[in-house]
This record gives sequence, C-alpha cells and structure tokens, in this order.
Amino acid sequence: MHNKTLSELAQGLREKAFSSAELTQYYLDRIQQHDGNLNSFITVTPERALAQAKAADALLAAGKGEALTGIPLAQKDIFCTDGVRTSCGSKMLDNFIAPYNATVIEKFNRAGSVMLGKTNMDEFAMGSSNETSFYGTVKNPWDLQAVPGGSSGGSAACVAARIAPASTGTDTGGSIRQPAALCGITGLKPTYGRISRYGMIAFASSLDQAGPMTRNAEDAAIMLNTMAGFDARDSTCLDKPVPDYTADLDNRLQGLKIGLPKEYFAEGLDGAMASAIDAAIKEYQKLGATIKEISLPNTHLAVPTYYVIAPAECSSNLSRMDGVRFGYRCENPVDLEDLYKRSRGEGFGEEVKRRIMVGAYALSAGYYDAYYLKAQQIRQLISDDFKKAFAEVDVIMGPTTPEPAFNFGEKGNDPVSMYLSDIYTIAVNLAGLPGMSVPAGMVNGRPAGLQIIGNYFDEARLLNVAHQYQQVTDWHQQGPEKYL
Ligand code: GLN
Repeated sequence: MHNKTLSELAQGLREKAFSSAELTQYYLDRIQQHDGNLNSFITVTPERALAQAKAADALLAAGKGEALTGIPLAQKDIFCTDGVRTSCGSKMLDNFIAPYNATVIEKFNRAGSVMLGKTNMDEFAMGSSNETSFYGTVKNPWDLQAVPGGSSGGSAACVAARIAPASTGTDTGGSIRQPAALCGITGLKPTYGRISRYGMIAFASSLDQAGPMTRNAEDAAIMLNTMAGFDARDSTCLDKPVPDYTADLDNRLQGLKIGLPKEYFAEGLDGAMASAIDAAIKEYQKLGATIKEISLPNTHLAVPTYYVIAPAECSSNLSRMDGVRFGYRCENPVDLEDLYKRSRGEGFGEEVKRRIMVGAYALSAGYYDAYYLKAQQIRQLISDDFKKAFAEVDVIMGPTTPEPAFNFGEKGNDPVSMYLSDIYTIAVNLAGLPGMSVPAGMVNGRPAGLQIIGNYFDEARLLNVAHQYQQVTDWHQQGPEKYL
C-alpha cells in the first residue's frame, strides 16, 4: 500500500479497493510505528484526519471524487491550519492555534484530501539541516546519522519513509529542493507568484514559495494542479490560468536544449556527485536532448546576496512576534520593554536571532545603501544571467546540492559553511524561477539530486522533463530499505 503513487491511490479509492478511512488509518499507524525515530511530524491530527476521510468517502460514494479526494497528505507546519497548532518549528508559536486556513490548506480541503498532520521544519524555515527546529531534529530515513536537509526536512523525510504519500514544503532559498535531494524524493519549487502565500508564515516574502514534495514527477503535477492559482488575498500571486500539469508529462524530449552552467560543476562539487549528475545528463542525451555549456557568471554572488536580502525581510516579518499579539510571552515582565526583550529573547532560537540581527543591521540608516540596496542590484544581475541563458536553452540542469546529506553536527556550529551548502538553489529564488529536484543516483549510500531549472511559469515543462527521466530510470522508486 505505502509504495503506491497518488494516481494509484486515487484509482484504488475509485475502485473501492480500500476506503479513505482505511487508507488514512493505515498511514496513521505507519506514523505511529516509525515517526518516533524520525520525528518528521510536529503534530499528528488523527481525529481530524479520520473525519476528513469519512467526508471524502461520502464524496467518493457519490461519484464526486477528484484527483486528491480521500488521499492523506502531510502539511508543512508553516501553513496556518484552522484550529490546529501552527508552530513554524518555533517555541515562539508553540501555543499558536491558527484561527484560519492558509489558501494552500483551503485548496486541499476543497479537493477533499485528508491532512495527516503538520511536519517538522527548521525554525521559521531558516536552515538547511532541520537542526534549528524547537521540536528537535528530523532524521534522514536513509541513515539516521544524516540530516534530512531543511527547512522542509520533515516533509521530505515522511515521504521518503512512506509514512505519508506526499507533502507540501516551502522554498525560500532551497528548502523544497535541498531536502528532496537529501532524502531521495521529488520536489518542485514553482515560479514566484504561482501559488498563494496567504496564510503561509512569512520568512522572506519576496523569495518564499510553496510547492509539492512527492515520490515522482507525476505526483508533483497532481499536487500542483490543486495548489496553483490566483488568490486575491496575496498581492504577489499572479492571475494566470492554471494548465493541467499532468497533460504534458508524456511529451517526447527530442530536441530539448539543456544548458549546463559551468559554475555549477566547478570547485566545491563532490566528485561522486558530479559523476551521478553526468550519468543523468547522459540519459537525457539518449532521450534526444542536446547539451550546451552555458555560464551564469554571477553565481558566486548568490549566497552573499541572499544572506542580506532574506535576513532583511525576516527581520521585518518577525517583528510581529512581540509577545503581545500572539505567541510566546515571557513570565512576569516588569515593564513593556522587558516584555518585548525577554519574549523575543526566550521565544526565538539562535539562528533566527542571528538572522534578525543581520537583517536589522543591513536595513539600518547608514548601511542600507551599502548592503540592502547593493544586494537588490546584484539580484537583478543574477536574474539577467538566467534571462540570457533561457534565450539559448529550454532548461538548465546541475546538481541540487554540492554533496549528499551530511551528518548531524557537521555544519551546525559553522553558519557560513551551512549557508554555502545552498549554493546551487539560492539563485533560483532570487530570480523567482521554478526549479525541481529529482532523485538521480546514490553517493556513499545517500541520495543525490538532479536540479532542473526552468523559465518563468514553465512548470509543465519541468514536470515533463522530470517524468521522462523517471520513465527510463528507477532512482525515484528506491527507498530506504527499512521503510519499503
Ligand atoms: N537554507 C536556506 C536558509 O537557511 C533556505 C531556507 C529556505 O528555503 N526556507 O535560509
């Protein structure tokens, strides 16, 4: 059962091979059995899930089932869910019960899907290893010594361990693609503006984007069909029709032009990782694609640029967590200033505080021009690099990460080396482009991810390109033995 894809599950439900209530109970049992070790969920919501399953069974019985009706999913704990704790991985929001649903949650509800629970994540989505969560680290199901990636580490681990059929993540600088790569699953960060950010707790508003985390590209297409679309409540959400993302999956890749940025294969890339990516590129050549070396000359500026812009935006976004309106409040404050200081001092973790300080500094009078304004100018140069590249090629490929999953503690004490691990994913967010990671081999027993970057709103093509690869390889079907 737990190796079935979303379309296989939908078929089983339609044919009454099992009910949604049975399917939901099956996954709740698997969570119970395996998540003690993995810690991929912050909150499991069995009662709510079984009630939703019952409602879905009624819809299915009436012949009103859609692609995701009755299918259990895991939601990253960054999406507000009415009546359910929405913690964002932080002590600050440990007691926060959201009073409304994020648009993404609302769309899944309307589609009749079932929410199993809320997944673990780096605090306020800041991190690449899930080591910053207030609720403890998430373990990588392939190797419990290894990090699952971050910030959507729980969403990646639960899908890899098959304790949820699919999940959602958010990606500000790589948080869907990087954990997908490290856990051997498929992850898609759509174009900025494709999916509503309403009710998705903001980290860096000009970069954040939600997306699906699944076992294969077809499942990602099915999830995106539900998640995408205009929302008047998010002014950065684009009013652009949503195609059926499953429609182009079977297109042939004959003549597809793939660009390989030389900067993505330079120093810093693990040798075995480079070989895995080379092998994937060869598969594409066999499928009829042509390869062209390209250059994204400002790649080396992406990490420093991001680590000015993202902290600047987060220092502003997180100012609402002040111990007054909602969330954590310190004990016995002596006055207002003490209340602010101690609530924020005690409620936020170390990495979040580091970012707030960097961001407040970069935005302060006297430094704004030197840091924030400069970063915005470089951001434009990075976007222009991609624009030039897409005049010549259809998609860009490279590794998602420089190396496979690292071990706990390996980078935790060295923020800069942690930040550098985002080198291949971050520029995509700065430019607002869509990017995907698909399983493409194993390096030292841990999964390797191939990144596919597309032009604006070219998600259908990315999914097609990923799907075709998954028709001729089986990396996406492999999983950690213990959970198969
Ligand atoms: N690892 C990056 C960071 O720490 C990206 C996180 C994300 O995409 N949410 O900011």
